[in-house]
Amino acid sequence: MIVGIDFGTTNSLVAYVGKDLKPQIIVNERGSRITPSVVYFKNEKQALVGELAKSQMFIRPDQTIFRVKRKMGTDHRYTIFNASYTPSEIGSLIFRKLKAYASDFLGKPVDKAVVTVPAYFDDNQRLAVLTSAQLAGIEVVKLFNEPTAAALAYGVKADGERVVLVLDFGGGTFDITLMKHREGLFEVIATGGSTSLGGTDFDQVISNWVIEAIKQTRGIDLSKDPIAMQQVINHSERAKVDLSTVAETTVVIPYIAASSEGPVHVNLTISRDQFENLARSLFDESERLILNTVKEACIKPDQVDVVVLAGGSSRMPAFKRIASTHFPKAQLMGEVNPDEVVALGAAVQAAIIEGRVKNIELKDILPHSLGVLDDDGQFVPIIERGTTYPELSTRMFTNSRDNQSDVTIKVLQKRENHFIELGDFQFTSSKIWQKGEANIAVSFQINNNGVLDVSAEDIDSGEVQDLRIMNGLVGVRDVEIQPRREELEKRLQVL
Ligand code: AMP
Repeated sequence: MIVGIDFGTTNSLVAYVGKDLKPQIIVNERGSRITPSVVYFKNEKQALVGELAKSQMFIRPDQTIFRVKRKMGTDHRYTIFNASYTPSEIGSLIFRKLKAYASDFLGKPVDKAVVTVPAYFDDNQRLAVLTSAQLAGIEVVKLFNEPTAAALAYGVKADGERVVLVLDFGGGTFDITLMKHREGLFEVIATGGSTSLGGTDFDQVISNWVIEAIKQTRGIDLSKDPIAMQQVINHSERAKVDLSTVAETTVVIPYIAASSEGPVHVNLTISRDQFENLARSLFDESERLILNTVKEACIKPDQVDVVVLAGGSSRMPAFKRIASTHFPKAQLMGEVNPDEVVALGAAVQAAIIEGRVKNIELKDILPHSLGVLDDDGQFVPIIERGTTYPELSTRMFTNSRDNQSDVTIKVLQKRENHFIELGDFQFTSSKIWQKGEANIAVSFQINNNGVLDVSAEDIDSGEVQDLRIMNGLVGVRDVEIQPRREELEKRLQVL
């Protein structure tokens, strides 16, 4: 069975489509539907993932890693107990945990998945996530855009062309995606949001309010005590969640500190209005980001047909008000649990791939042109932006100098008006060419995952070289993954 995995910045989820053909969430060994994307190194041989790791975040920050998704595709390294780990390796520990509990739940090994990624992730970031899953022994049958997954979970139907706005407001990030949907094709027309605005910022607002109140009334600064802070943050998050359904809640934390007059307890009541005022600038910022994204895409608010809410923070009533007031003609889709909607959509996509769910065909579209830099320093597109994939495209190249036996070509991705270098790619021949003599067919292949593979063939000799983009940007091959995976599994046990 192929499962759907939402590998999130703060939380991860696994879902599958059952015999009744309905997507459902797989619960972990604690009975929770979500697993915090947090890794805690207990020692050099054991890592805890999930809720238990999250509780160490403030107490042992040097041994705890959170928000690894943000580092995907960068050359950031984590050094823990004198060992160095790439973001993909840390991510693989989370995938290992997800795989283990999903296998237990389903009663059979889970080794294939549809894994979701933000629509704005570039090749580098996509490949880092792909590698993470592979290192955990999961074959990724498709990397799937999160907003498309959310729309799929809602069964957004194409009735002519529709403009769909997905607002994914999670724990650490706010991802805004504007898409055009027609005949199974979701075309991303604009992405926006912020990688530094999310639910934790709202928790912080309540935490600051609690700290200030204790400072004022008891003269104690809780922010200096990491263990007290862990509790304040946890209770603040809980209060924030309460305030999405009730008008008032009380933050109660007994024995948070000690003073000369005896123990200090937190017992503070906060109303929804009060919270919304305290967090006003955060709500205003989210509103500004939404309106900017729509404006930049030259779409008028009344042209938006559907607004899909995803991410736990979209449950906040003040946020829902923002989402509904600006798009008067849109259908607001928020009834599916917003924490789960991306994972559920990934599970539906998995079932489509398995052929169990029919009548839905989804295509992906390339958001940026891919090509090479020719000898004159000009960009030569090989696959144009807007192409649906999978896609294979080939172009002929030759050499520019006499007595040449290799050609170096730079592979580029064209963003609006700048280029991102994906790597150098080199073809070496056994023959010496004179200028213009070589006939090299360069093929770009984008597979289902949106991942680029490059190959080159000398048409005259039939020589095909296993060219690869440097920097490890090409999907890591099984032969390379296997030893790394074994080494990591031997080195670290995931609990
Ligand atoms: P996600 O990244 O989608 O799992 O979202 C996690 C974030 O959603 C966390 O910051 C949660 O505190 C927040 N969240 C979950 N449920 C609610 C709720 N009912 N009201 C407000 N925030 C929520």
